[in-house]
Amino acid sequence: MAESLFLSTKPLPFCPGCSHHLVVRHTAKALEQLGLKPLEVVLVTDIGCHGIVDPYFRTHTVHGLHGRSSALGAGIAAARKGGKVVVYLGDGGASIGLQHLIECARMNFPLTVLVLNNMLYGMTGGQPSSLTPCGFRTPLRPEGKLEPHYDLCRIVHSAGAEYVSRVNGTGDFSAALVEAFGIPGFSLVEVVETCTSYGLKFNPGQKTGEIAHNAGLEFGVWRNPGKSVFRLSLNTNRGSLFKESSIAVQWTAKLQNRLGILVGGSAGGRVQQAAEMLARASIASGLYATKKGTYPVTVGTGYSIAELILARQPIRYSGIEVPEVAVIVSPDGLSYSEGLLGEMKGGLLLIDEALNSPSTGAKVVTQPFVKTAGTKNAALLALLYLLKITETVPVAALLNEIKMASREGPEVASRLEKQLGQLEGKSDSNEVAKERD
Ligand code: SF4
Repeated sequence: MAESLFLSTKPLPFCPGCSHHLVVRHTAKALEQLGLKPLEVVLVTDIGCHGIVDPYFRTHTVHGLHGRSSALGAGIAAARKGGKVVVYLGDGGASIGLQHLIECARMNFPLTVLVLNNMLYGMTGGQPSSLTPCGFRTPLRPEGKLEPHYDLCRIVHSAGAEYVSRVNGTGDFSAALVEAFGIPGFSLVEVVETCTSYGLKFNPGQKTGEIAHNAGLEFGVWRNPGKSVFRLSLNTNRGSLFKESSIAVQWTAKLQNRLGILVGGSAGGRVQQAAEMLARASIASGLYATKKGTYPVTVGTGYSIAELILARQPIRYSGIEVPEVAVIVSPDGLSYSEGLLGEMKGGLLLIDEALNSPSTGAKVVTQPFVKTAGTKNAALLALLYLLKITETVPVAALLNEIKMASREGPEVASRLEKQLGQLEGKSDSNEVAKERD
């Protein structure tokens, strides 16, 4: 096969003989025939063997949750002005996310979904899906699937899709893809395939076309009259968030580069609120800030972890691999973060005096945060203390945020300011500066 504009030159990752090879190559061929450039195309995949193809495409690629790639693709397509959004979905994903396909067809989102129907869940061991034809044998149903399957093309056509087709995935079906990709609204192509590892093994000698025919799944095209395409009208006149802020700059931060802070506490300890206040205070001091929260699904119990990045430059990625500063105020926060604290080779760990200091390469400073401010305000007091000893962001900026946060804010801020004065502290700014430079 000649080199493609749309694909890397690496061999595709699928099992020998898997029909996914053809789907990928014909997708690339069809896109090329339409004169599209790789970066005008977004490929959305999800869970399944097809989903491992992302790094082989030179287009934009987005990987979604199982069965949700059509919903994800619909959102992307609705917000884009041009180009092409192509979604890959397995028959398992189509079963899980059937409602998304129906909605895409009904609303006429401008995208093409390719359903790679190899009649089983290939990645997870060959379980039958709702599209697996009755009688088709899989590892989980070696005697053949007993329940009836449904006809996806008919369902999506009934839901109003402009273009639906079913093709045999063993031949050159790139012409069908050219046709589908050229539809302004929603189009879907079901490619009936063979999984050589499970499908062929359990149904030896059966041809893909025969299986489809015997199941009443005819190859063909079903059309509905064109209708208006669903697009979002976005306000594109808005400036970049990197340039605009609704928080007025009133203070001056001394931080020159970037600081990653982990705050670990418990539910009810206002950890997330405290971290958000510090993020706002940092922005009000001329910095960029991001904040991410992690907590159990049962939000009223267990750990509560906040990750903050404060930086002089725009923050393009909001994750922290290893923090420069960790602030730990409860046993839950400590046990959740212990691994990460162990990875700190330097920096600063502020930890409540009632907790055992973990093994870490960070400089450890203990203070009675909980005893002084109570469990509800220990995280806030610890963050105020951090600002006091590092001088990265003015303490006054965070006190101001606390004052503005609620009706009781001025009283809380005044009490915390007094409690901060009770904590001993020398400047540790050099300790943190070493890490952030
Ligand atoms: S397990 Fe089946 S579907 Fe997955 S790559 Fe192998 S042949 Fe293809």
